[in-house]
Amino acid sequence: MSPDAGSGEISPTTIRCNCGHRVVRKDVIQTGLYLSVLGPSYVYVRYRCGRCRRVGEKLVEQESWDPAVLHPARRRGEDADIQRFEEMGEITPEEIIDFHYGLERLGAADRQGEVERA
Ligand SMILES: [Zn+2]
Repeated sequence: MSPDAGSGEISPTTIRCNCGHRVVRKDVIQTGLYLSVLGPSYVYVRYRCGRCRRVGEKLVEQESWDPAVLHPARRRGEDADIQRFEEMGEITPEEIIDFHYGLERLGAADRQGEVERA
């Protein structure tokens, strides 16, 4: 990984722990969205540092927030909310499995009954 400095471009917002560790997605416990009518909206990120294990919080302006700064890592359980937030519309493996079983059930029903419907 290369240092952020010296590129001359506007770098996306990164979150750093007080110890200097860059917070990546696997460190994130929770994210939320603070919508404001008057001012800018904020993304709320709660994390536990992967290095020093301290828990911290950060508010990032939604406009400058890019979920990609947290390197994608697939996890389950506690990250469900984060995934829903960051990957809205994306189909999860669980959904694919559900869909698969649903199709099987449909297929079985079709084979027993009316097959032709077009
Ligand atoms: Zn730290």
